[in-house]
Amino acid sequence: MIIAEINMKILSLVLPFLLLLHFGCSSQQETLKGLSYDPPGSVVTTDKEIELQHRRTISFASTKVFSSNEFDGGKLNDFYQVNDTLYTAEMNAENVPINNSAWFAFKLWSPVKQSISILLKYKDGTHRYYPKMSRDKINWTRVDSLNFSIDTANGTALVRVDISPDTLWLSAQELFTSSKYYKWIDDLAEMQFVKKEVIGTSALGKPIVEVEITETNKPSGLIYVIGRQHPPEVTGALALKSFVETLTGGLELAKEFRKKYKTVVIPLVNPDGVDMGHWRHNSNGVDLNRDWVNFNQKETRLVKEKLLSIREESNVPVLFCIDFHSTQKDVFYITNKDAAKQVDEIYNKTMAWFEKIKEKNPGYFVNIDASLNNPSAPTSDSWMFNTFNCPALTYELGDETLREEIKQTSSAAAEAMMELLLKNVK
Ligand SMILES: [Zn+2]
Repeated sequence: MIIAEINMKILSLVLPFLLLLHFGCSSQQETLKGLSYDPPGSVVTTDKEIELQHRRTISFASTKVFSSNEFDGGKLNDFYQVNDTLYTAEMNAENVPINNSAWFAFKLWSPVKQSISILLKYKDGTHRYYPKMSRDKINWTRVDSLNFSIDTANGTALVRVDISPDTLWLSAQELFTSSKYYKWIDDLAEMQFVKKEVIGTSALGKPIVEVEITETNKPSGLIYVIGRQHPPEVTGALALKSFVETLTGGLELAKEFRKKYKTVVIPLVNPDGVDMGHWRHNSNGVDLNRDWVNFNQKETRLVKEKLLSIREESNVPVLFCIDFHSTQKDVFYITNKDAAKQVDEIYNKTMAWFEKIKEKNPGYFVNIDASLNNPSAPTSDSWMFNTFNCPALTYELGDETLREEIKQTSSAAAEAMMELLLKNVK
């Protein structure tokens, strides 16, 4: 009797997690009403009021512990003391309904060296990300597993850290905020064959930057790459970076590719959400990757108009579209093969790309999911698929996929795409 009850309890705890695993960041269902894992109402893309966190430093006189969210990407709604060594950090979603991407990021310090424990507690969400820490906001490590535990019953987690006068950042993922993107893009644009353009600004006035990579004035085709519609999806950002750096790199393959094609990259679609430490939405409280039918938001409109105008001006086809994201595992969401015209050609091209990725990564499981993806979904991949009639995918990286592996597989994915498109045209 007791065992049965425990089993039922475990099942009730594990089942939502299993469902979440299955329905990752960007899977899709049949109608525009929503996607299967989205909470009801969350795909309404008209502006919604958001709850702003206060940017502030909170300190405790008795223990001389300081905490702060005063930096881009920071997320800490409240921080309070339970006893001499235990504190609670509270994080709230920017608004609801929202899918569970419970982001946290704050810094800690004390003039007195000490070990403290912090209970990570979420409003409208449950613990998701394995904590990372850094002393310089550049180099990050995972918190030692001995100092970390999750309470699945309450959706909280407990983390123990050593603090000192040397500031410690504790975050759901590495901080990859707008300033880092802008610096990266500036570095890329130093190369003769890379051109950058600010195509407009976000709702809060941050630049949305587009990058073009080509060595010809008359490309035979276009490749579109976008990313970071969802703020916490840092592993997708790392993959996009590696993918693009392979296209701009020194391989003969890349040089040949640049002489034939133009790649257009918009790496940061949602700079406001990223810098505000949002769980999923833009500064208007909207999931941008559910706005690709209605285009109610400035950011999605800007990206759409730019992609359309480049297509129109160059008068050559778009050959490949990739939107980078993150979820619990590496997975490629592709359009359902029964869903559109000329589907065989597009489907076969997509599958040929996966085959090449497999060849380049022996032992790597190329996880493909076409089961939920429908061209009528209000997502970027569906819009690109319908508009450009070419392979249009959502490339998802796992939240905890090893960073070296992300770099390698996404670079191999870029090589595979270049080989495929060069071969097809010859
Ligand atoms: Zn996403």
